[in-house]
Amino acid sequence: MSDRYCVFGNPIGHSKSPLIHAAFARQTGEDIVYEARLAPIDGFAGSVREFVAAGGRGANVTVPFKEEAFRLCTQLTSRARLAGAVNTLSFDNGAIVGDNTDGAGLVRDLSVNLATSLAGCRILLLGAGGAARGALGPLLEAQPAQLVIANRTAARASALAEQFSTLGPASGGSFDDLAGEGFDLIVNATSASLAGEVPPLPAAVFSAGTLVYDMMYAKGDTPFLAHARKMGVTRLADGLGMLVEQAAEAFFVWRGVRPETAPVLADLRRA
Ligand code: NDP
Repeated sequence: MSDRYCVFGNPIGHSKSPLIHAAFARQTGEDIVYEARLAPIDGFAGSVREFVAAGGRGANVTVPFKEEAFRLCTQLTSRARLAGAVNTLSFDNGAIVGDNTDGAGLVRDLSVNLATSLAGCRILLLGAGGAARGALGPLLEAQPAQLVIANRTAARASALAEQFSTLGPASGGSFDDLAGEGFDLIVNATSASLAGEVPPLPAAVFSAGTLVYDMMYAKGDTPFLAHARKMGVTRLADGLGMLVEQAAEAFFVWRGVRPETAPVLADLRRA
């Protein structure tokens, strides 16, 4: 019988993860099935237990359960502990092992798919929620010259910067604090694009050479990428590559095999 995996979320109907993992399984010959499972907002832990009892070997976790998943785990990898959030669960003889592959997925998309060297870069990270937390460790490990976190609630950005400052040159504050600053890379890890909004950034943060990356993805430009384009930026990327790369990292955690991501990403873009 095939090994069973799934992604838990609410909502979950839109998830591309089943398509991605089915493509990885075909490519690598791994015998797995992977489905999307809707967990009730107040019933995540019960849904996980049900899936384990039915023979589930592992699961991905998406909005809004990543922090609850963190609390549910009996063991955590160091990158999950650092992120304070879990997007990958492995079920092993009664243990629930939590990992976080989001940050690794982002950095791999930036460095491999988008051929961007992060060492020595000036990086602006927008947002201080789960996605920003997951990205911080891997971004700082890539040794940027500076990493500025800016968030609508400035205190959350300052707290994050302080927490991660032992890993590298992180500072945090409000969008207004960015006046007069310019960046090589801007990563939007806010959920503003979901509401069709754009964080109010000073115009000078954008320059023609800046790579602007929105973790959200959409057909065509997200609102943030459309804004950056209007500001004269030509290097733009959405989060579809990150989605595929974090999935590949989870597949590797579960199966010990690293799938090739380029053909899967190309197929998703065509679709
Ligand atoms: P959270 O809810 O944990 O955090 C949301 C963040 O966005 C907070 O910092 C919040 O600020 C900020 N925010 C929300 N609305 C606005 C707004 N209108 N203007 C400015 N800031 C705003 O979400 P996540 O961190 O989990 O996810 C963030 C985004 O990243 C989502 O779009 C998600 O889809 C995407 N993502 C993509 C992945 C991928 O693989 N491509 C993986 C993970 C996430 P405040 O603190 O002030 O509330």
